[in-house]
Amino acid sequence: MTDQDDTPQTGITVSKEEDFSEWYTQILTKADLADIRYNVKGFVVYRPWATISIKKMYRKYEDLLEQNGHLPLVMPSVIPERNFQTEAEHVEGFAPEVFWVSEVGSEGERLNERLALRPTSETALYPMYSYWIRSYNDLPFKRYQSCQVWRYEGKMTRPFFRGREFHWIEAHNVFATMEDAKEQVKEDMQMTYQMLQDEFCIPIIFFQRPEWDKFPGAVHTYAADALMGSGKVLQLPSTHLLGQNFSRPFNVSYIDEDGQEKYGYITCYGPAISRIYGAMISYLGDDKGLILPYDLAPVQIVVVPIIFKNKEKIVLDKAYELHEKLKETYNIRLDDSEDSPGQKFYFWEMKGVPFRIEIGPRDIKKEQVVIVRRYDGEKFFVKEDQLEAKLADLASKYTKELWKKAFIDFESEIEVAYEIDSAKEAIENGKIVACGFCSIDKDGERCAEVIEKDVGAFVRGKRVDEEKHDFATCLVCNKPASCTVYLAKSY
Ligand SMILES: [Zn+2]
Repeated sequence: MTDQDDTPQTGITVSKEEDFSEWYTQILTKADLADIRYNVKGFVVYRPWATISIKKMYRKYEDLLEQNGHLPLVMPSVIPERNFQTEAEHVEGFAPEVFWVSEVGSEGERLNERLALRPTSETALYPMYSYWIRSYNDLPFKRYQSCQVWRYEGKMTRPFFRGREFHWIEAHNVFATMEDAKEQVKEDMQMTYQMLQDEFCIPIIFFQRPEWDKFPGAVHTYAADALMGSGKVLQLPSTHLLGQNFSRPFNVSYIDEDGQEKYGYITCYGPAISRIYGAMISYLGDDKGLILPYDLAPVQIVVVPIIFKNKEKIVLDKAYELHEKLKETYNIRLDDSEDSPGQKFYFWEMKGVPFRIEIGPRDIKKEQVVIVRRYDGEKFFVKEDQLEAKLADLASKYTKELWKKAFIDFESEIEVAYEIDSAKEAIENGKIVACGFCSIDKDGERCAEVIEKDVGAFVRGKRVDEEKHDFATCLVCNKPASCTVYLAKSY
């Protein structure tokens, strides 16, 4: 599964705290996650160690979507230009980022109609929905697909975080009423908390995005921001209430109980798995390398025999015996390579394997083994006959405990500000700022521009859960505040 020979046997040489960028670059290479040598800018090769975890993340998300009534499908990856042009705001928002297929063959024969490589699938799916949805009996209509999308990203690209090709899930649902559609948005947010926090151990908070920062064509966008520490946030899944903005131009309609033809209300939800993976490894990793939630680790336990001269056989035999005993239950690896035990420790810590079992001649004499837990380095000396029970216990708690350690209380990140200067100072001190704001509708955009320029942060929007802070006036224009917004630096 790993090409150990191919990998430098040294740890990461910088501290994540001091030089995150370099830390991230090193972990990509040293833990065999991505290869950036592929010769198209913004496109990277995902190597097996990352791909295995990413597939596991997909599986968890897909299972949850299906439990909640979404059915899978697979759409073509190209969208004819005329579909793409159907919803005006959507076109305007996405057009600058679209890759077009416009010719074929060695003679460069022009296609009659350009084809967009899908940047997202609304304009591919909804014409099909207009065929499939006939009556109120067909609603709610919930579908999803797991796929790649392509966007010509102008910002600096970084493997997993931001690329010109990324891997995601998109769910598109149609409902009879706006209320049902709003309920779906709530379910999307609930699924996001369940996946990102409980399974992937990334702390998040949901904001309703301001009008100028919503999905092109949406009524409202609700986006999760991951709390990456030091006041920086990263946008993770967002869910969009599209209302009838797409069902009208694409004729997604149904015959209601009263015999009337009505347009459906649409929602869409897009967890970008590759980006979530990038956030997860950056957020959880430490100076020794990866830390992964237990279920997502490609290997969960590694057995390292501690070999001394003349005691090789007895130790190796015991190591094989343990490996044999545990391999039914765990994804386990026995490292019997020629490397020194120290090199093996470094290597598997770098890979984020949750547990290491060490076994040496003295342990054999004492009929014990040593278990070392990756996320905190704690050692457990366990009698051999209690090993299976102890492992089962430690494994079942691993992700929950990791989440406890990773959790960031949003309130503790916040500083309240009443003036631009103090907001700026708080942002520079690594805080997220709560302040009063005139409006997250279009007319607040000018104040948001001032904040970008003078505070050095972005207006992330209005908190979706309970708001505890209340302000009389807008931080920028001093007009009466219509809401509290949060300002943060973002990746
Ligand atoms: Zn204002």
